[in-house]
Amino acid sequence: MEPAIKYRLIKKEKHTGARLGELITPHGTFPTPMFMPVGTQASVKSLAPEELDAMGAGVILSNTYHLWLRPGEQIVKEAGGLHQFMNWKKGILTDSGGFQVFSLAKNRDITEEGVHFKDHLSGAKRFLSPEVAIQVENDLGPDIMMSLDECPPFFETYDYVQKSVARTSRWAERGLKAHQHPDYQGLFGIVQGAGFKDLREQSAKDLVSLDFPGYSIGGLSVGESKAEMNHVLDFTTPLLPENKPRYLMGVGSADALIDGAIRGVDMFDCVLPTRIARNGTCMTSHGRLVVKNAKYAHDFTPLDDNCDCYTCRNFTRAYIRHLIKADETFGLRLTSYHNLYFLLHLMQQVRQAIMDDNLLEFREHFFEMYGFNKKNAKNF
Ligand SMILES: [Zn+2]
Repeated sequence: MEPAIKYRLIKKEKHTGARLGELITPHGTFPTPMFMPVGTQASVKSLAPEELDAMGAGVILSNTYHLWLRPGEQIVKEAGGLHQFMNWKKGILTDSGGFQVFSLAKNRDITEEGVHFKDHLSGAKRFLSPEVAIQVENDLGPDIMMSLDECPPFFETYDYVQKSVARTSRWAERGLKAHQHPDYQGLFGIVQGAGFKDLREQSAKDLVSLDFPGYSIGGLSVGESKAEMNHVLDFTTPLLPENKPRYLMGVGSADALIDGAIRGVDMFDCVLPTRIARNGTCMTSHGRLVVKNAKYAHDFTPLDDNCDCYTCRNFTRAYIRHLIKADETFGLRLTSYHNLYFLLHLMQQVRQAIMDDNLLEFREHFFEMYGFNKKNAKNF
C-alpha cells in the first residue's frame, strides 16, 4: 500500500541542517519548510479559504479536541469530512487533542488506558485514549493526523519524563493499530522527552521503529528559552529519518521559524500570528508594531513597507488603528491577513535562501532588521 503522505527532499543547504523539500498529500503538494495557519474551530479566525489560498497557505491545522466537543466529529463526517465541511481544498493537519486536554480540561486523570477529564465547555466527563483520538481524526478526515501523546512540562523531573516518554511510545503503537485509513490519512508519531537528550533519543528510536510517514517534535515552546529549544532541536532532528517530514509543534515566532528551519524542521504551526493580530499587534520586517498606539494616528503608510500583501497594498496604519480602536471586525481581518502573509512569505524567503545556500546570511540580515539582535528584544 502506498503511504498517504510522501516527503521529497529537493536540496540540503550547504552550511546548516536546513532542507528544501515538498510534502505530497491527498489534497495537493506543498513546499517545505512551511508555516501552517491554525484554524482551531475549522476556521482560521476571520479569514476565508480563498484568502488563505491566495496568500500561499498549502496546509492548515485544525484542533481535534475542539471539533470533538463541538460540533462533534459525526457532524463533520456527515458533511463529508473537514475539507468539505469548511470548503478548504488543500492540506489539513489535525492534532490529537492531547495538548488541549492537558492545558484546558479540568479534573484530569492520566492512566495507561488514556485520560479521563471534564470538558471545558459543558463540564461533561469524557475519556480520550489513543484509540479514541484516532477514531475522531479518522472521522474528521484530515490529510495528516497526530498520535495521542503526553506533553509534560519542560522542567518536569527526569523520572517523570522517562515514564511519560515510554507511555507516549505505547500510545503511538496503539494509535497506529487503530488507524483505519492509512491509504489517505498519514499518521505522525510525536517525539517527546523535554530537555533530556537520552530521553529524546529513546522516544525517537521507539517511534522510528514503528515507521510513521512523518514525525512531530513536541514538548517545545512550553516556557523554555529559545536557546534551550534550539539546543533540543540540535540533537533531535538528526535522530529522525531523512526521507520523512519533521513537524515542530506550536512554534510561530519569526526567529524560531528561521532557527528551526536551520536545524532541519519542515513544518511549523502556531496561533501566535492570528492571536496577536486581534489585539492589533503586527509582525513586520522592522519588528513588531502595535498599530493601536497613538503615534500611528496620523501615519498614512502601510503596516510594513517591505510587504506586498493585500492589507499593505491597500490600507494605512492610521486606518487600521482606527478600525481596531472602534472594534470594527474588518480591522482584525486586515491585521490577521498581514501577519499570516508575513510568516508565509518569510518561509518562502527561507526556502529561497536554502536554494541559494545563504540561509545564515539571511538569518543575520533578518534578525538585524527585526531587532532580535538587540538586548531585551521581544520574542516575536
Ligand atoms: Zn502586509
